[in-house]
Amino acid sequence: MAKVIYGGQSYECGTDSVLDCLTAQGVPVPSSCRSGICQTCLMRTVNGEVPEKAKAGLKPTLAMQNYFLACSCFPESDIEVALPEAGVNRLSAEVVSVERLKPDILGIKLSPSKIFEYRAGQFLNLYKDKTTARSYSLASVPRLDESLAIHVRKVPNGLVSGWLFENLKAGDRIEISEAAGDCFYAPGNPDQNIILIGTGTGLAPLYGIVRDALQSGHRGRLSLYHGGYDVYGFYLVEELKELESRYPNFSYRPCVSEGDAPEGYAKGMVHEAALAEHPDLSGWRVFLCGNPLMVNAAKKQTFFAGASMREIFADPF
Ligand SMILES: Cc1cc2nc3c(=O)[nH]c(=O)nc-3n(C[C@H](O)[C@H](O)[C@H](O)COP(=O)(O)OP(=O)(O)OC[C@H]3O[C@@H](n4cnc5c(N)ncnc54)[C@H](O)[C@@H]3O)c2cc1C
Repeated sequence: MAKVIYGGQSYECGTDSVLDCLTAQGVPVPSSCRSGICQTCLMRTVNGEVPEKAKAGLKPTLAMQNYFLACSCFPESDIEVALPEAGVNRLSAEVVSVERLKPDILGIKLSPSKIFEYRAGQFLNLYKDKTTARSYSLASVPRLDESLAIHVRKVPNGLVSGWLFENLKAGDRIEISEAAGDCFYAPGNPDQNIILIGTGTGLAPLYGIVRDALQSGHRGRLSLYHGGYDVYGFYLVEELKELESRYPNFSYRPCVSEGDAPEGYAKGMVHEAALAEHPDLSGWRVFLCGNPLMVNAAKKQTFFAGASMREIFADPF
């Protein structure tokens, strides 16, 4: 049975991940999603090898330096591990502004302390303290926006979102990670049609991706569907309508799942409304962000409607 050695102590790992093994023993390993997406639980091997799966999604430069994700690491032989050196994959950022986009959604702008390479739609991890972090998607576009922009929804009793709502103000300094994730616009196929479907703050990455694509001169259709419970569930409506009037290939469709749908709104589950208007997605690129139930259902349904799995990009949260 494989052992994990950390800080001179040896722990039986059994069938657990390195993250579960260490946190069960009180080792303070930062973590958030625990499913290999957010990369908060980054660790480094000092001795021994980790399975390749534990490096999935990491930047090649990090993988080459023996970094791995503790939540996805089920060691097959003994390994000695360490937390990353201070500063690896982390930097400080100044809060430029905090704005209520809606009563339960904050728009936060950040100015990173050093060059921050990213694509609109990727995410960063925001640290409340040394070990508590949560991922937030980037709504800003490097070529268009001076600051990094994220949208945070207030989750009832949420540790990090609650802390941001109650404490964060312009001028504060916080710690963030570098950007990660593959939910972004890749140029190179400017005539391809693109459908984007999101709920709640799933709009943040989609808003960034749409503006990035339009700014890059994308010529194919860009159809954005945003789902909310009722007409009060939407934000950035004016900005999106303005983009719609400026770019004939862009369309924005808000969709309400409860109650009456006023003119211009679709009715029902957002992915079903999107698919009813786009039943054939052969050759389309698809972006899905927000509620995991919606994202998982939409992944299957857009695939059955003809989209290739390689062309479906999703961030469930
Ligand atoms: C790749 C990625 C990108 C993300 N992008 C964004 C983003 O752009 N904007 C954004 O607001 N969030 C985003 N999230 C979600 C975010 O990382 C946090 O999970 C969220 O803010 C809740 O954290 P918290 O500490 O406030 O709540 P926690 O303290 O972690 O949770 C408190 C309670 O709420 C429940 N809960 C947690 N999340 C949700 C939820 N989404 N809905 C309902 N109940 C929940 C938990 O089960 C728990 O019972 C993203 C997540 C991922 C993995």
